[in-house]
Amino acid sequence: MKPLLTLPLALLVATSAFAEDDHQRDKPVPGPNGGRVIEAAGHHAEFFVRPDRKVLITFYNHDMKPQPPAEQQISAIAEAPAGKAKLEFEKTADAFVSTTPLPEGDGYRIVLQIRPDAAAKPQNIRINFDTKVCGECNRAEYACVCSHG
Ligand SMILES: [Zn+2]
Repeated sequence: MKPLLTLPLALLVATSAFAEDDHQRDKPVPGPNGGRVIEAAGHHAEFFVRPDRKVLITFYNHDMKPQPPAEQQISAIAEAPAGKAKLEFEKTADAFVSTTPLPEGDGYRIVLQIRPDAAAKPQNIRINFDTKVCGECNRAEYACVCSHG
């Protein structure tokens, strides 16, 4: 029985060695919804703009399994050409959705503010909102996963 007992340990060692290699972050993680994956509140969070221009924020664990919304608090400021617009978010069963759509146009900056919970310090994430489709990965530029940045 001894070899069977040592096998899980060997697997564990192999797995963590792999995770170490994975740390060179040449390539961004592709968002399962087609959005941009950012590190926020100790999780992966995906920023995705739906066809109705409402912003969808989905949290994932380290294995990219979707996590239901918890105590996170989210807001965003769209620095649109017509003026800044603040977006509030509400919880759905599996994500956060902005209560209003993004302002017209694109090529402007969005500052996303995420708090792990109401008492925590906010984390600001700047996203260049560009909806042109990248010719290499076929994703919107704001969610492009090519290493050319
Ligand atoms: Zn690309």
